[in-house]
Amino acid sequence: MKYLVTGGAGFIGSHLVDELMSLKNEVTVVDNLSSGKLEFLKNNMGKPGFTFINGDLVNSKIAGETVRDCDVVFHLSANPDARKGITDTRYDLEQEVLVTYNVLEAMKINALKKIVFASSSTVYGETPGIPIPEDYGPLLPISIYGACKLASEGMVSAFCSTFDMHAWIYRFANVVGKRATHGVIYDFINKLGNDPSELEILGDGTQCKPYIHVKDCVDGMLYGLGHASERINVFNLGSDTYTNVTAIAEMLVKAMMPGEVKFKYTGGDRGWIGDVPQVRYDVSKINKLGWHARYTSDQAIYNAINEILGK
Ligand code: NAD
Repeated sequence: MKYLVTGGAGFIGSHLVDELMSLKNEVTVVDNLSSGKLEFLKNNMGKPGFTFINGDLVNSKIAGETVRDCDVVFHLSANPDARKGITDTRYDLEQEVLVTYNVLEAMKINALKKIVFASSSTVYGETPGIPIPEDYGPLLPISIYGACKLASEGMVSAFCSTFDMHAWIYRFANVVGKRATHGVIYDFINKLGNDPSELEILGDGTQCKPYIHVKDCVDGMLYGLGHASERINVFNLGSDTYTNVTAIAEMLVKAMMPGEVKFKYTGGDRGWIGDVPQVRYDVSKINKLGWHARYTSDQAIYNAINEILGK
C-alpha cells in the first residue's frame, strides 16, 4: 500500500512512519519541519519506498503537488501547542483549518479517497465529569486549538459527503513517548534540567487526564483503519484510565534523581486558559471494535519517562 503522512517528521507521525515502513509499505512524508525533525526519520531515509518532501501545506500549490499518488492520507500536521492560541488567535486557523482544507482539496483534485485525521479530545471542551462518548454534544471547545480541530473535523466530514471520500477521525488522548517535543513530561524534564531542586507545576497538580503511549496510538489508528468501514468513522483513542499531574511529577523525579525536589504549584484548577483540567474519556466504541490500549495511563507515562531518559 502507498501512504502519505502529513506531519510525518513529528512525534506521532514519525512513529507511524516507522510502523508503516516496517510493514513494507511505500510511505511519503510531507513536513515543513516547523516542530518535526529530520533525525526522527533517520531509520527510514534512503530506504526503498520512502520519500521525504520538505513542504509547507499552508501553501495550496505545495499541497496540490505533494498530496497525491497514495491509497491513504494520514493527516497529522498541525501546530502542536494548544497554548499558542492565547497569544496568536490566527495561527491554528492557518496551520489547522486552512491546511486541512488544502489537504482535502488536493485529495479531491487527485481523486484520493481515504483520509485519517488526527483530532483531539479538546473538541469536547469542558464536560460534566462523565466519560465522554464520540456522540456527545453540543461540542463547545474552550481553546482555539480545540475549536480549529473541530472545524477541521467538520471540513473532513463535508468533503467525504460531497466528494465520495472516507474518513477515520481519531480524537487522541494526551500522547506520550520518545521524540515528544512538547507536553507535560517534556516540560518537567526541561525544568528539572535547569533547576534540579525545584519543579514548577502549572495549576494545583490535580488536573487529571488519560494518557496514551505513542505506540498504542499508532496501533489504534491502524486497527480502526483496518476494521471500521463507515463513511466517517470517529473514535476516541486512549484508555479509560487517568493520571494526575502531581503523580507524573513524582514518577519523573523518582526516575531522574533520588534527591529532594520541592514542588512549586502556580495554583488554580488548570494549567493555562483553555486547558481542560478534568478529562473523562469513553473508549468503549474502539474497544467494541476489538482494540484496547496495551498500557494504562500510568504505564504509558512510566514507559515514556524511561524511554525518554534512555533507561
Ligand atoms: P508534532 O508537532 O510533533 O507533529 C506535527 C508535525 O507537523 C511536525 O513535524 C511539524 O513540523 C509538521 N507541520 C506543522 N505545520 C506544518 C505545515 N504547515 N506544513 C507541513 N508540515 C507541518 O505534533 P504531534 O504531537 O506529533 O501531533 C500530531 C498530530 O496529532 C497533530 O495534528 C496534533 O494536533 C494531534 N494531537 C496530538 C496530541 C498529543 O498529545 N501529542 C493529542 C491530540 C492530538
